[in-house]
Amino acid sequence: LIDAPSTVTEAPVALSYELFPPRSDAASVTLWKTIRELEGTAPDYVSVTYGASGSNHDTALDLVDRLQLETTLRPLAHLTCVGGTPEELSTTVNELLDRGVRGILALRGDKPRDGQVPAGSLRYAQDLIELIRRVELRRSAQFAAGKVAIGVAAYPTKHPESPSEAHDIEVLLAKQRSGADFAITQVFFHAEQYASLIHRARRAGVTIPIIPGIMPLTSLRRILKLSELSGVAPDATLVDRMRAAGDDGALARKIGVEASVALAQAALDAGAPGLHLYTFNEHESALEVLARLDLPRPSRPSLARRQAN
Ligand code: FAD
Repeated sequence: LIDAPSTVTEAPVALSYELFPPRSDAASVTLWKTIRELEGTAPDYVSVTYGASGSNHDTALDLVDRLQLETTLRPLAHLTCVGGTPEELSTTVNELLDRGVRGILALRGDKPRDGQVPAGSLRYAQDLIELIRRVELRRSAQFAAGKVAIGVAAYPTKHPESPSEAHDIEVLLAKQRSGADFAITQVFFHAEQYASLIHRARRAGVTIPIIPGIMPLTSLRRILKLSELSGVAPDATLVDRMRAAGDDGALARKIGVEASVALAQAALDAGAPGLHLYTFNEHESALEVLARLDLPRPSRPSLARRQAN
């Protein structure tokens, strides 16, 4: 008798990537090469960033549109609310829904430089979630087959404007109560910060999936830029190791990618239901991290769909 082959019974891990709308024709060509490469990994969705105050409204919507029409990928459209009136934001939500988008990442966005929320603008991501749910309700006849999935941001380390980590958890709970379905985290450099977020959130009553946002760390410059943009302090040991690599870019990249793989694996070991990779519109490092992780993934329905068409 020949033994039947054993089957893999590990729960599949969700996979997604973040892209940003291109700022030039040349950037668009590079982005589309990246998109085609990432498509081959059959992610659950790809997210498309949105400028604070809607600064790139048209290019963001164009990219979402093209993803819907020209690829097998499912877009998750980021939307920021600070600087937008309820009317303007309702229009944008309707524009997204008209394009067939069924996933929105509801964000506040960075405040203007003077730190003031403009008069008449929405104030918090929570306000945007409620606005999206109201728009959805008005269009409810269209959503017989399912509602809009709303994602939100979550913070493994304290949000720069927040008084405490405990306050961040209260905000996450409030976003869940207002209708958020899942959260994606800000970047973090220590897996314990993600594990601690999950522990504190669950204890407070947050039940939605919280997906770790992982950045493939390919250079010291990228790490420092990332810290500056996110307000998250970099890992000092990693910075020292990258600095010691000096001009050897290949060595720095090797150290960085290994650190990202270890971080992603530790987050999965802590129970992460998926991984969201910040790509910076480059596929190589994201795919390198993925190849080393060997995630349990379902068979590739989106590729099968493309072949069947
Ligand atoms: P909020 O949840 O509204 O929180 C903002 C601040 O207000 C926090 O300090 C919070 O503690 C406080 N707060 C919130 N609600 C309340 C309340 N009810 N009462 C009192 N205080 C409150 N930015 C972009 O511009 N474009 C993007 O595409 C983008 N994508 C992102 C994707 C991810 C996964 C993440 C993690 C961040 C992203 N950002 C993006 C950055 C984000 O806009 C900033 O981190 C922003 O400073 C906060 O956004 P938020 O949605 O968390 O805001």
